Amino acid sequence: MAADSKPDTHEKPRQRPPLRSWNLHVVDSFDVPPGMRRVVLTADDIHEFDYKPGQAIVMMIPLPDGGTGRRDYTIRSQDRIQGTISVDFLLHGDTPAPTWARRVARGDIIKVRGPRGGTVLRPDADWHLLTGDETCIPAIAHILETMPAGTKAFVFIETSDRNGEIALETKADASVRWMHRNGAPAGPSGLMNGVIQDFVLPPGKGHAYLIGETSNVRRQRHTLIARGLTRDQISSEGYWRPGRIGGHDHVDD
Ligand SMILES: Cc1cc2nc3c(=O)[nH]c(=O)nc-3n(C[C@H](O)[C@H](O)[C@H](O)COP(=O)(O)OP(=O)(O)OC[C@H]3O[C@@H](n4cnc5c(N)ncnc54)[C@H](O)[C@@H]3O)c2cc1C
Repeated sequence: MAADSKPDTHEKPRQRPPLRSWNLHVVDSFDVPPGMRRVVLTADDIHEFDYKPGQAIVMMIPLPDGGTGRRDYTIRSQDRIQGTISVDFLLHGDTPAPTWARRVARGDIIKVRGPRGGTVLRPDADWHLLTGDETCIPAIAHILETMPAGTKAFVFIETSDRNGEIALETKADASVRWMHRNGAPAGPSGLMNGVIQDFVLPPGKGHAYLIGETSNVRRQRHTLIARGLTRDQISSEGYWRPGRIGGHDHVDD
């Protein structure tokens, strides 16, 4: 499913209002170990940029053929004093987005639209379950950083091995468990679904935020529904999948 050559799937068929466009200027870029490249961006109207942690922007990334292709990236942080937002790119290969992130220079301009996305904290839930792979670390880290003290959170993150782990900051009452693929490539697997099957559901009404490779997200969603969670207790979105070019997958079945 090539998002570069398809009609815009970001607003259809749900007919949401069009996303606002921004011309962002690169301020800085640097490595964020392990395996990420952070790009810091600004704009003349950046003070009007308003979003919720976990939301993303759609970036018009340069392609080898001279055109641009849409790529969704989480807003990793915002510095209201400096007037910047940051985005962390997983360096998963020589594909357009990581290539752009490695090569950008101060002053480069990129068109983006947004913010968008529903993977944002549901403050009324009694507990929160967050799962994802490396591409989700920016979203999970940002949501955790902004969780109020005392919020009960259970976090499961899949990485290649323990070198992929990062320190996560939070005031919440969060239990974080890292899952390792131990040499297996990122992609469809039963790893996270096994964790979700074994997860002891805490008392009260929880909310699950399931993000990452699309088939893994879908499996976890079905497991939680079979275990009694209602559909409105689950926010799930496919961030990537083998063979997909850009875009995102709604996982709501
Ligand atoms: C809402 C949302 C937020 C996201 N936030 C982030 C973020 O903050 N940081 C981040 O790094 N990514 C994030 N992603 C994932 C990112 O948009 C995709 O990985 C995207 O496809 C990357 O573009 P690309 O140019 O590297 O590869 P593309 O040209 O889109 O894809 C080429 C091929 O690369 C492979 N591929 C793509 N992504 C991955 C991957 N992650 N791992 C392994 N193989 C892959 C697939 O086989 C694909 O067909 C997010 C996605 C969504 C929907």
